[in-house]
Amino acid sequence: MLTADGVSKTYGDRLALEATSIEIFEKEFVSIVGPSGCGKSTLLMMMAGLLPPSSGQITLGGQAVTKPPMGLAVVFQDYSRSLFPWLTVQRNLAMAAAAYKLSKAEVRERVDNALVAVGLPDTHNLYPYQMSGGMQQRVAIARALIVQPQVMLMDEPFAAVDAQTRADLEDLVLRVRDEYKVTVGFVTHDIDEAVYLGDRVVVLAANPGRIIADLAVDLPRPRDQVQTKLEPEFARLRSEVFQLVMRPKAAKEAASTH
Ligand code: ADP
Ligand code: MG
Repeated sequence: MLTADGVSKTYGDRLALEATSIEIFEKEFVSIVGPSGCGKSTLLMMMAGLLPPSSGQITLGGQAVTKPPMGLAVVFQDYSRSLFPWLTVQRNLAMAAAAYKLSKAEVRERVDNALVAVGLPDTHNLYPYQMSGGMQQRVAIARALIVQPQVMLMDEPFAAVDAQTRADLEDLVLRVRDEYKVTVGFVTHDIDEAVYLGDRVVVLAANPGRIIADLAVDLPRPRDQVQTKLEPEFARLRSEVFQLVMRPKAAKEAASTH
């Protein structure tokens, strides 16, 4: 569905991401994890059509991506800068539908549904400053849902909220993904979060940014914050990803001796 084929990115003379290929299949949830500065955001922004690659090509459903495509929504980390502070929730959400030529009634219905999906019904008339960080990030997710995206790309969306809110939002994303049948690319530096959410975990290393592993997550769904994390498979994957992220060299040597 969404593919990067040999995409690289150079900033000035610095190679941020070397030629990288990745495919996200329809309805799949792919976690992309790696240390700070390894090129996660760069990869995601290129896949979203927001940043041109230095080489290679991005395609969505077989079509080349050169600008943000219809049917693709992005959720960023910094909720405080991703909503318009001077607009109500209703208007922030309605704005996302502007390019989609919907009737007023359709927009209203989508706004209502998206707010219910993120657990914030009846917040239409609030302004962002009247909401907690977790609530604002829910609104940002609701805004992504307005376009009924086929693909949702998320860049460390929960890095700035407290641990309980984060767990709630993780489960919210899993629910919303089922309800809207959306394909998800989810960038995080949090190893547990990557394993907990994903069908696959793609691990990046830095200097230069590159993919060093692509692991299937064989854990039952629905996931559960307590039960899933007690599974031996969770512990095994978590430690494998941890080794790859924290000690990529040692992990590679261990793998090559098997
Ligand atoms: P991550 O999201 O994994 O932390 P980024 O994709 O943000 O990594 O950055 C990858 C590398 O590219 C880092 O070394 C970063 O400093 C550099 N970089 C990112 N954006 C720019 C930019 N606009 N100009 C120059 N260097 C950048
Ligand atoms: Mg980043």
